[in-house]
Amino acid sequence: MSLSFEVDSRSGKARRGRLVAPHATIETPVFMPVGTVASVKGVPQDILEELGAQIILGNTYHLYLRPGVSTVRKLGGLHGFMSWPRAILTDSGGFQVFSLNELRKVNEEGVTFRSHLDGSSHFFSPESAMEAQIGLGADIIMAFDECTEYPADQARMRASMEMTARWAARSKKYFEEHKNEVPWGGDVASAEIGHGGTDALVRPAEPSSTAQASLRSPGRTRASVPPHMDQTQSLFGIVQGGMDRALRKESAERTIEIGFPGYAIGGLSVGEPRELTREIVESTLERLPNDKPRYLMGVGTPEEIVEYANLGVDMMDCVLPTRAARHGLLFTSEGKVSIKQARYAQDAGPLDPNCGCRVCQRYSRAYLRHLYASNEVLAQVLNTIHNLSFYLDTMRRVRHSI
Ligand SMILES: [Zn+2]
Repeated sequence: MSLSFEVDSRSGKARRGRLVAPHATIETPVFMPVGTVASVKGVPQDILEELGAQIILGNTYHLYLRPGVSTVRKLGGLHGFMSWPRAILTDSGGFQVFSLNELRKVNEEGVTFRSHLDGSSHFFSPESAMEAQIGLGADIIMAFDECTEYPADQARMRASMEMTARWAARSKKYFEEHKNEVPWGGDVASAEIGHGGTDALVRPAEPSSTAQASLRSPGRTRASVPPHMDQTQSLFGIVQGGMDRALRKESAERTIEIGFPGYAIGGLSVGEPRELTREIVESTLERLPNDKPRYLMGVGTPEEIVEYANLGVDMMDCVLPTRAARHGLLFTSEGKVSIKQARYAQDAGPLDPNCGCRVCQRYSRAYLRHLYASNEVLAQVLNTIHNLSFYLDTMRRVRHSI
């Protein structure tokens, strides 16, 4: 069993549970910081651990283009490569590819797209997206789906939903045939950065290889404690269907029929009004099995993540806390703070008097404002640490309230 999910308590529609993945036991509902290119921008991994991040997200599209899946695989998968011992989820690349607009061409087989880096041509299909995600080696990976644009007419929403259903079946078929090719197949040495990863797939675990790897790299922190050899990744299905409740229902039914250990709601936060997002989330959640984790992709503000957790969502991710931080927009218990404002120039108080993070414990608003105004790299680092701390604490409070 590579993933187990247990609901410990409920309050209304909200549920508090535990998701046991190969690299971590994750308390839900959980917020997952986004680490697009194997880096949560500005925040070192040890600080992410200190903040209590249990699982982070990587983007397959970006990692596939740079540094490339084979490089990451050779270096022990994402866990070994980025030295992150806890859980990781990768998206399928679908959302990013569909965001390329002019640079892509879709047919039944898959999507041809041009790299935003150098214009080179690439092709993603359900099979190649699975191959890439298996090579990256996240604990949880996602079926290749088509994110329907907004607005879209009825015929377009239906055709898109049906293609996602066919792609989900192809994703699962490929995954089932290749899931044993994950880069963390039981060799401790493979998790050591830069050592031993290349032959991890063909060599069985030997206790001595651990000691040798440690001798070769004194002072290096063990990147990852590899899971048991019989563990594999888990593939989640994604419900699409645009902004149409009936299509969402049908998409949920067809995805459940294929059968996945967890289900995501995709295709939201694509420009639709917030009330519509909530309506679609609420109606789709009713169609998903009670005993499987439910993941709402790409939301939201601090208020929204609380709202969705209360509707029964177990997992969420969003670039908002990290992206906003880099633009000087900070979320606090007293509301939003735009740290660039002149009113903070002489403010000796902490950013958020109710926050226990290392930034609020140590620095003043005046200093944070000065760093931002001076375009210092440290401004981005400190702002991001606080915003992530605020999001993770918010979710911790939600869990305690359930
Ligand atoms: Zn703080």
